[in-house]
Amino acid sequence: MIVVLLGPPGSGKGTQADAILARYNLPHISTGDMFRSAAAEGTPLGLKAKSFMDKGLLVPDDTTIGLVQERILKPDCEQGCLLDGFPRTIAQATALDLMLESLGRKIDCILYFDVDPQILVKRLSGRRICTKCDASYHILFQPPLQEGICDHCGAELYTRDDDKEETAHHRLEVFEMNTAPLVDFYLDQGRITDINAAPSPKEVTVSVFAALDKLGLA
Ligand code: AMP
Repeated sequence: MIVVLLGPPGSGKGTQADAILARYNLPHISTGDMFRSAAAEGTPLGLKAKSFMDKGLLVPDDTTIGLVQERILKPDCEQGCLLDGFPRTIAQATALDLMLESLGRKIDCILYFDVDPQILVKRLSGRRICTKCDASYHILFQPPLQEGICDHCGAELYTRDDDKEETAHHRLEVFEMNTAPLVDFYLDQGRITDINAAPSPKEVTVSVFAALDKLGLA
C-alpha cells in the first residue's frame, strides 16, 4: 500500500505520520527528515538542501526526485510506504507516477490535510523540537511539562530554522505557488481523500484511520 500525505506546512502531516506509523506497518519516507539528517551529517546533498530549507524554499525537483527514487527501491518498500512531504510539485508527482508505473505499482491513497492558512503560521511558529530525540511539541497546543525541556529524554527543545515566523510565512507562499497546483492536479484526477485538519490532532487521527481502514490497510 502506497500512501501519500499532502498538506501545507503546519497542517499536521508529521504528527499524523507518527500516528499512522504506530498503527500500520509501513516504512516512512519523509523527504524533510531525509534532508535534515543529510544536512546534520554535512553531506554534499545535505548542504545543498540546507541552503534551500533555511530560506523556506523547495529543494530542486531533480535532487528530491533522485533521493526518493533511490529510497523507494529499497527492499523494505516492497509492500508499500508512507510518503510524507513528497510529492510537492506537479513535476515530482509525474515522476513518481512514472517511477511506480515502471515497477507495476501505483499510489493507493492521497490524504490531503485541509486547513485554513491563517491557522498555519500560528501552528508553525509555536512548534518546538527536541535536540536529541526529535519529539515534537507546541508551546500553545502541546507544551512540554517543563518549558524548553523534552518530556521524554530531558534534552533541550529548539525552533527549527524554517519554523521561524518570517520563514514560516514564506513556506506558506511556496506551498501556494508550487503545491496548491499539485492539489488541483490530483483533485481533477479524483485522487484526493480530503481530511479536515483544523480540529485537534486526535480528532484528525480518527479521520485518517477511518480513511486508511476503508482501504483495508492493516
Ligand atoms: P518538511 O519537514 O516536510 O516541512 O520539509 C522541510 C523542508 O525540506 C521544506 O521546506 C523544503 O525545503 C524541503 N523539502 C522537503 N520535502 C521536499 C520536496 N518534496 N520537494 C522539495 N523540497 C522539499
